[in-house]
Amino acid sequence: MSTVLIVGAGGVGNVVVHKCVKVPEVFDKIILASRTLEKCKKIASALNRPILVEQLDADDVKQTVSLIKKYKPDMILNIALPYQDLPLMDAALETGVDYLDTANYEPPDIAKFEYKWQWAYHDRFKKRGIMALLGSGFDPGVTNVFCAYAAKHHFDEIYYVDIVDCNAGDHGKAFATNFNPEINIREITQKGKYWENGKWNEIEPMSVSQMFDFPEVGPRKAYLLYHEEEESLVKHIKGLKRIRFWMTFGEQYLTHLRVLQNVGMTSIEPVEYEGQKIVPLQFLKALLPEPASLAENYKGKTCIGCIFEGVKDGKSKKIFIYNVCDHHECYKEVGGNAVSYTTGVPAMIGAKMMLTGVWRGEGVFNMEQFDPDPFMEDLNRYGLPWKEIQL
Ligand code: NDP
Repeated sequence: MSTVLIVGAGGVGNVVVHKCVKVPEVFDKIILASRTLEKCKKIASALNRPILVEQLDADDVKQTVSLIKKYKPDMILNIALPYQDLPLMDAALETGVDYLDTANYEPPDIAKFEYKWQWAYHDRFKKRGIMALLGSGFDPGVTNVFCAYAAKHHFDEIYYVDIVDCNAGDHGKAFATNFNPEINIREITQKGKYWENGKWNEIEPMSVSQMFDFPEVGPRKAYLLYHEEEESLVKHIKGLKRIRFWMTFGEQYLTHLRVLQNVGMTSIEPVEYEGQKIVPLQFLKALLPEPASLAENYKGKTCIGCIFEGVKDGKSKKIFIYNVCDHHECYKEVGGNAVSYTTGVPAMIGAKMMLTGVWRGEGVFNMEQFDPDPFMEDLNRYGLPWKEIQL
């Protein structure tokens, strides 16, 4: 029986809370804290078990520390934004509680995400005897666990990994992002990057694409992007020669994005407007629909997984491990879309692994460093069943 402090009441936070409430044998007492108290209350009102809600600015370490002292949680689940990773890790260190998140740190003023800032906490977490689990969403998260599972059960050596992320859903809006618009647009307007033969190769944003035939979805065009799990996976997969990440985008989305970029609306450089400094991308976020609001009319499916090529017992082998998730089914279950659902369920499972001692360690860890089997079992049990096929 544990007490958890969940920080962040957005699309993903909503799913995490719904899922934790359904596992009372692990998540006994839940405190949901976020910048806007009303959003916490709205989530709480849709649950069939009471939780506690609090207002919190997680950028302020002191506020988080006093909330932790008040409720004495066993761990913090950071479901706010990547900007809050370091202040929440500082609060965890100060109070000696475990930490989990779903996205790696990026500084607000540079559109760059890297594990180096969070890996730098390893020795301090170890010395304090606490654990941090980084990137417990779908990608990163489940994709890392798929890699550990493939390495454990299917291959002697994995040579090539292609992580493929397809959202074939339609929310009926002309332009919207499936998770936080600021974080999403920063990610896809950066230069792309992939790792081959020991070095990173950079490409212009969205300049390389390929068709993939996604199970239960069909053929879709996917674009090569840089994604954070590649950074830890190149360290942990033995014999790896190449890893790439691909994401699908519809033509309508790309056309809107191109126009917004061309007129400067995706810039994170502050501009002066009527005597006030504004960041164009933050202003754009204020205009776009909240990702959580897209769920009601979302139709279609996501398909996310990893294509592996390597050798087993001297023979070449190629397999695809993946999950398919239906937007409307997610809405019926938790009132969220499939992108929030596929992120929120693994966050709950990661926390369960830590709280039950199934995954344990002192320091800062990525998902592929632990035994994948209990996590894979829980994916089937808690709403994200996976399949594996020979290619
Ligand atoms: P949302 O923007 O919907 O929600 C973010 C929440 O965090 C909001 O409730 C926001 O408050 C709150 N918040 C922001 N700043 C603070 C702060 N300083 N203190 C307290 N609360 C704060 O985002 P999503 O739910 O879509 O995404 C949540 C996280 O999940 C992000 O880090 C995202 O990158 C990650 N993600 C990971 C994926 C994966 O597969 N690994 C996939 C998709 C998302 P307010 O409501 O006031 O704005």
